[in-house]
Amino acid sequence: MDCLFCKIGNGEIPSYTVYENEYVRCFMDINPVHDGHVLIIPKKHFLDNNDITLEYLGEINKASKKVMKLLNDKLKPDGIKLVQNNGIIQEVKHYHLHLIPIYEVKKENSDVKDVYEILSK
Ligand code: 5GP
Ligand code: ZN
Repeated sequence: MDCLFCKIGNGEIPSYTVYENEYVRCFMDINPVHDGHVLIIPKKHFLDNNDITLEYLGEINKASKKVMKLLNDKLKPDGIKLVQNNGIIQEVKHYHLHLIPIYEVKKENSDVKDVYEILSK
């Protein structure tokens, strides 16, 4: 199957990865809503929340707590929104959880690479 996020998951397509293990990859969204927008994907293909197994959902949730800590420590947002789209509002048809930092004081987004460097320091 020709799936973009399967290729990012297995490293065939490079990504700014902030955390990974055998189950998941957490990487910078290419078109962030706000600085520090991260996507968490299972390394195995699942379509959406209907399709994903509880085992993988557990791993996604564990990783979300690690990445939230990283975002809070390094970027100090005022909140973090978790979003996961299903059906016609899902653009990429491979399960992904969005972690979107929210900032009380609005500012221009920085380059994804610069935010990645802050997160990986
Ligand atoms: P959805 O609407 O499916 O929940 O969101 C898909 C997300 O994937 C969007 O936020 C979009 O910016 C992101 N995205 C799409 N293609 C790529 C890509 O090639 N690399 C990365 N890092 N993010 C992508
Ligand atoms: Zn896939």
